[in-house]
Order: sequence, then structure tokens, then C-alpha cells
Amino acid sequence: MANIDRDSGLSAPSRETNYSEHEKLLNTTAAVQAQSVDNNTFPAVNPPPKTGHTRTGSVTTNVSGTLNQPLNIVVLGASFAGLSIAHAFLDTTLAQLRTTSAAPNYRLILISPSTHIYWNIGAPRALVALGLIKQDDLFIPIEPGFQRHKGRPYTIIQGRAITWDSNARTVEVELLSSAAEKRYSQLSTTSSAQKRRSDNPLSPVSDAPRTQTVPYHALIIATGSSAHSNLLSLHGPHTDTIAALTAIHSKLATAKSIVVCGGGTSGIETAGQLATYLNYTRHWPVRRLIASPKKIILLTGSDRCLPTFPLKQSKKAERKLQSLGVDIRHNVRVTSAKEDFDLTGQVKVELDDDTTLIVDAYIPCTGVSPNAAFAPPALRDEEGYVKTNAATCRVDEAGSRVYALGDVASFSQNYTLDAYAAVPVVQANLLNDLVAHELRLASPYGGNQDAIDALKDEIYVRRDKDSQLCPVTRFGGVGVLTGLALPSLMVHKMKGSDYRVRKAARVVVDGGNPYAKPFSKYE
Ligand SMILES: Cc1cc2nc3c(=O)[nH]c(=O)nc-3n(C[C@H](O)[C@H](O)[C@H](O)COP(=O)(O)OP(=O)(O)OC[C@H]3O[C@@H](n4cnc5c(N)ncnc54)[C@H](O)[C@@H]3O)c2cc1C
Repeated sequence: MANIDRDSGLSAPSRETNYSEHEKLLNTTAAVQAQSVDNNTFPAVNPPPKTGHTRTGSVTTNVSGTLNQPLNIVVLGASFAGLSIAHAFLDTTLAQLRTTSAAPNYRLILISPSTHIYWNIGAPRALVALGLIKQDDLFIPIEPGFQRHKGRPYTIIQGRAITWDSNARTVEVELLSSAAEKRYSQLSTTSSAQKRRSDNPLSPVSDAPRTQTVPYHALIIATGSSAHSNLLSLHGPHTDTIAALTAIHSKLATAKSIVVCGGGTSGIETAGQLATYLNYTRHWPVRRLIASPKKIILLTGSDRCLPTFPLKQSKKAERKLQSLGVDIRHNVRVTSAKEDFDLTGQVKVELDDDTTLIVDAYIPCTGVSPNAAFAPPALRDEEGYVKTNAATCRVDEAGSRVYALGDVASFSQNYTLDAYAAVPVVQANLLNDLVAHELRLASPYGGNQDAIDALKDEIYVRRDKDSQLCPVTRFGGVGVLTGLALPSLMVHKMKGSDYRVRKAARVVVDGGNPYAKPFSKYE
């Protein structure tokens, strides 16, 4: 990643470029305004600029952009990517908009099924036993992080996008709490009866339908991915994840045998953390094994641990796991896992070598799937990710002003750093597209075309996937940083000591990158 902005962790050059770009625009457009334009009846726009992207956006929209009914900038997902772009919009972009007197008003709507983020970077340790990572460090409420935006137009709604109509430019959202229903009804000014109801604190909020259609002027998709196990990532409200963690903690406490499936970083970390914290009472200067250690089996599904790491690091991870007593089995895959198959709580794990394991606990660490089921199939790639332009982060086939970033975007390699590298790109291109729209509104017959053409896209640069950290034991692990192998203790220092929980506040309060240096005041 290029130069890290000291406060935000965002790439600095893009922000600077766009400030000056838009200051220029403010000056050049001041003279070309004053036409009264109704957003809903605006005529067809001029041909698109020759260079750049499809900045051809229709200016019709189903909300008016007046003060009472601002245009919706909708962000789906409130984790690393969604929080970062939402804060960036409220901190910076908003003030750079309304470049003409005909410009609309805007509001940000942040939609997420969970009111809290889940610090799943620490999940492999958190799932082992209660208190290894404090619950307050694992689940951080989103809303307080936005208190510093008081006075700015934003609303956070606990809901899940269930369908998306890219032609109508709407997202259908299932509201997941009565607070969300109330908030949504306060947003809507379409029905005065509804407004009266929401104004009256005594009125039953259940009058509002549970599913609502949210129109958008711009849409930013940051719905991420979910691990196959609900222990490793959110699958809805964070309370579901807390319940899943509580259930596994009590299961592991009495388990005699545990199978971990998956030879990637999550599987290796999980097997290592289980062995470390369940089977040993002391770790330094020598480990002390408990009297009846649990049998921990790791199924890697390939011919080595950590297949994306250099071979030497794979072998090192394997040796570390073996030193902890983990039974590693390569080249065998799980074909089915039946929980509580005999009503005693045990799990029947069937393998593709026609053998079966009966164990007390089973933890699948078998990768992630994109949270994009709400998107039309035509807008998803063959793996289900949202088809996103890897240069501009726009979802080109979804019409104007639609973007995706973070795990859900087809260009992402599913690391937090991919999300943070994309934030300045989405921020800059969103600003360009919104300003282009304003310029068209101000000069419907093409008077601002030069200014629109002058808006330059920010381009996403793909990060080399050569930095990965995998804590294994109490004080060590394996890792690669910008291609260089890290000493075991360094992996502990950089990640395994506390799974970077001290950086979580930064993510929630300022949308900052938890891996950026120097660290922020929130730590
Ligand atoms: C166990 C584990 C450990 C990891 N460790 C690391 C690590 O050490 N370093 C690293 O760089 N990466 C790590 N990763 C990857 C990292 O977690 C992801 O890259 C990161 O979470 C992606 O962030 P995101 O904001 O794109 O999506 P997510 O974090 O997946 O968040 C998605 C957001 O969208 C919301 N959402 C989901 N569906 C909908 C919907 N239908 N409508 C609205 N909102 C929705 C969710 O509630 C959530 O708020 C790890 C992943 C796992 C599973």
C-alpha cells in the first residue's frame, strides 16, 4: 500500500488530488448555475466524456434531494469496509458536495444486520474458552463510533439487504429490530400518516412493515463474506455469534476429542490455539501438559499446512502444531459432518477416504462465502462475488453510482488490507460521480461538460498478497511480511499477543486501518 495517511490509514495522495480537483470545479461552475431543474423530470443527459468511465448517470431519481427528502447514499455492511467508507463520506466527501445552487441534499444510510462489529481476527482464540479475549474487545458497538458526526445527515439501520433492483435503483431491506423500524419510519416522508406515527412516541412501531424498499442515489456494497462456521464471522446480529461462542465453549470444556477441518490460516490458528489453551497449563520456559489432554485432529485437505505460504513456513507451522500434540492428517477431506448424530452430542465426521471419525466437537475452518445473495445473479461472478471493476471499484453493470469494496467485491483477495486500499478509490470516484450529477443538474444542456470531463478517476492498485500472520503457539507462529519470513516471536508481537484488539476502536470510531502506522489516538 502506498503512503499511509497518518490519521486515517487511507492513501493520502488520492485525497489531496480530489480536494484540488473539486476546489477547481467549485470555481468553474459558479457561473453556470441558476436553472431551476426538477430532478424527477430532468431530460436526457449529454454524451459521456470520452475518457474515464461510464459517468453517464441518469439524473432521474425517486427521491427529490430536497432538504426534507435528501438523496440517499446507501452503504450496505458496517464492518471494516463499510465503516471506513461511511466515516470517510461524513468526514470529507459531504463537505465537498453541493457544488452548484441546483445541487441536491444528501444523507448517508448505513445498513447492517449487526449493531456490533465482530473482531474475527481474534476468533481462533476467542472460540477456545470464555475470557481468552474479552467480549467487549470482540464485539464493538457501531453506533457510538458515529457520535462524533452529530449534526451530519446519517442514519444507521439494523437490517439485511434481501433483494436489489438495480434498474429501479432500490434495495429491499429486512428490518431486524423495532428500533430499526422506528428509524426507518422517521426517514420516510412519503406518508404523512406514517410520519405522524413516528412523531408520536406512544405509537406502535410495528405498524411499519418489516421489509422496506430503500431507494438510493448512490449505493456502496460492503457486505463482506461469512465463514462457513458461525464462530469465525458474523451471520446476522452479533448476538447470534455470542450464542455460538457460548455453546462451543461449554462443548469444548468437556470434549475429549476435537476435529478442526481446514489447513489455511484459520484452521492452523484454531488447532494451535485449542491445543495451547486447552492442553497446557504453562508455556514458558517449558510447556506443562495437563493430565488428560484432549485429542485434537487437524484435517488439512491438501498435502501441507498453509498452502499459500512458502513451503518452509508451512513446515514450520506443522512442526509447531506437532510439538503441541496436534494430530495432522493431510490429503483427506470431510464429506459430511453430522452434529449430535446419536443424540449424545457427538459429531459424526465422514471423510473422502471412506473412514469416519466420531468426535465430541467439530470446527469447520473451510473458507468463506460472499454475502451477496441479495444481488441479481447477473451482477455476481461465478463464485458469487459482486462483479466489480478492479480499477475503479464501480459495479459497472449496475448503473451509475454503484460501488463495491471489501470481501464482497470480485477484485478483493479477502484481507482487510484490500478493503482499506479500496476506500480512497471508492471515496474519490463516488465524489466525482456525485459532482458530475450536480453539474448536469446545473447545466442540463451540456454547459458543464468540460468540468465533468476534468473529473479523473482514482484507480485501485492490487496489493501483493505477500503478508500473512498465523499465530500458532502461546508465544509464536509463522508469518510473511512483504514476502519476507518473520521470526516466530515477531508473529506473536504483531498479532498473537492480543490479536490486535487494541486497534478495534480505531476501526469503529474513525474507520481507520487496524494495520496502519503510526497508530491513532484511539488505541
Ligand atoms: C477467522 C478469520 C480471521 C481473519 N483474520 C484476518 C487477519 O488476521 N488479517 C486480515 O487482513 N484479514 C483477516 N480475515 C479476513 C477479514 O476478516 C476480512 O477480509 C474482512 O472482514 C473483510 O471486511 P469487510 O468489511 O469487507 O466484510 P465483513 O467483515 O465480512 O463485514 C460484512 C458486513 O456486512 C454486513 N452484512 C452481511 N450481509 C449483509 C446484508 N445482506 N445486508 C447488509 N449488510 C450485510 C455484516 O453484518 C458486516 O457488517 C480473517 C477472516 C476470518 C474469517
